Amino acid sequence: MKDGKVKPSEGLDHWLVEPDGEGVRDELALAEQIMNIMEQGILVWTADGICELHNTRIFDVLELNGDDLAIGTTREEFRDRAVARGEMSAEDREGSAARIKAHQPYSFDRHLPSGRVVLTNARPARGGGYVVTFTDVTRERAAARELTRAKREAEAAQKKSQEVLEQERARQVAARQLSELDEWLQSCKSLDELYMIVTRFMERLLPGSQGELYLYSNSRDGLVGTCNWNTTDLHHHVTADSCWSLRRGRSYEYSAEGLCFLCDHVADHDHKVAVKEYLCVPIVAHGDTVGLLHIRFGGKPGGSADLQHHGDLALRCAEHIAMAIANVKLRDELHDQSIRDPLTGLYNRRYFMDALRREIGVADGGGPGFGLISFDADKFKSFNDNHGHDAGDMVLRAISEQLFTTFDPADICCRMGGEEFAVCLPGKDLDQVEAAAEAMRQDIAALQIRTAYTVLPKVTVSAGVTAYGGGGGASPNSLLKCADDALYRAKDGGRNRVCRAEWGGPAAQG
Ligand code: GH3
Ligand code: MG
Ligand code: MG
Repeated sequence: MKDGKVKPSEGLDHWLVEPDGEGVRDELALAEQIMNIMEQGILVWTADGICELHNTRIFDVLELNGDDLAIGTTREEFRDRAVARGEMSAEDREGSAARIKAHQPYSFDRHLPSGRVVLTNARPARGGGYVVTFTDVTRERAAARELTRAKREAEAAQKKSQEVLEQERARQVAARQLSELDEWLQSCKSLDELYMIVTRFMERLLPGSQGELYLYSNSRDGLVGTCNWNTTDLHHHVTADSCWSLRRGRSYEYSAEGLCFLCDHVADHDHKVAVKEYLCVPIVAHGDTVGLLHIRFGGKPGGSADLQHHGDLALRCAEHIAMAIANVKLRDELHDQSIRDPLTGLYNRRYFMDALRREIGVADGGGPGFGLISFDADKFKSFNDNHGHDAGDMVLRAISEQLFTTFDPADICCRMGGEEFAVCLPGKDLDQVEAAAEAMRQDIAALQIRTAYTVLPKVTVSAGVTAYGGGGGASPNSLLKCADDALYRAKDGGRNRVCRAEWGGPAAQG
């Protein structure tokens, strides 16, 4: 290697040692033999990047033919061919070139067109050259790939099962909360209690969601906001045609990304955060639409509930709430029926006697006393005879309606039976109750009642009043009798007037 050039014929002899004896030549021949029986391909580059030596195995390993490689082939030629066959990537080429410049080892995988993978492992040799081994690692790489794939699959399966487990856990928690909600709702005694329970549970069942519950007003001309959660928004009046769910009679899902339109009751509202997705569910009880549950998702930072995952739960909540509203309303109706007079809507006698008993208890216990009015329509028999029973009923209803205007909401107005009424006025003394009865008498005397055909003649009432301040041993019947005595005096005195009676104790009432 005097001038740094290699003569192809010199081969291994020249590379390893100066050829200076037969013994050495034998050793070289042996080394060449060993190289040729090795599994790996071996190639030696000079410092100038010229093939100085290779074994025969390299042709099999790299799928080369005799023209591809020979002693004297340059590394550039060898690489260009590898790149052209797609065995070597541009990165590997650049990476190894940089390593060669720094005289450092390098290695990379060659991907032969046949699909085999060959590990190229180059180590710097003395004198600036490189010894490169080519090892078929097709199986190892395939096994490694298989292992990575299996690992990835195992990880994905584990992740999936974790997700399923978490979903199942969340489902169980939701089911438990839903049944808790149901239990609370079933024991609701009033709509106010129901609103409180809905607010609390919706916060927990759909964390981060915001929503409102609307119920039809008694006149059914619109819906009234009753309760809300995680928001201060609450419409006082929503019309049925401002909500797609009420117009279409089924739940309505809105998503800003989907092909859908905002309900007017949402669009009209100045929400602090743009509404991205929401759900409107009609509240249907016993086949009757009684309200609307509106739930917004994604508006509250940190909220985890979304329409896709929590839509079903929201629907089930709406069903439970609907059932509870139906139950409370039914109970209210039944209760109302048991305490109210169907013709006039006033309290009935049974309720009134209970109320009197309660007020007597308050007064006897040192609380405020109360006034009592007993009154009766004058000459009502002849009114019926002259104008008919239906006209008489109209008069009874008109008198009752007038009572709601004349008296305070705290006063208890009752139809005792027939054309006889009574009013209990908590906190009023005899003078006050007499004045109230006089005002009532005048209001009724001034009533103008029209039928479809005519204006009915005026109706008057006679009233007796008394008051109870406690400590007098009164009973509901004895107090009523006291007021009735005054009422009879009013009748005797010419009707259309108010008479008063001092409560003189039970003995005085006979
Ligand atoms: P007075 O001034 O003495 O009270 O005379 P009155 O005719 O009102 O008294 P009376 O007790 O003799 O008659 C009461 C009448 O009230 C008899 C009945 O025709 C009428 N009446 C009772 N209940 C009803 C009702 O539900 N509807 C109608 N239309 N009339 C009723
Ligand atoms: Mg009468
Ligand atoms: Mg009567």
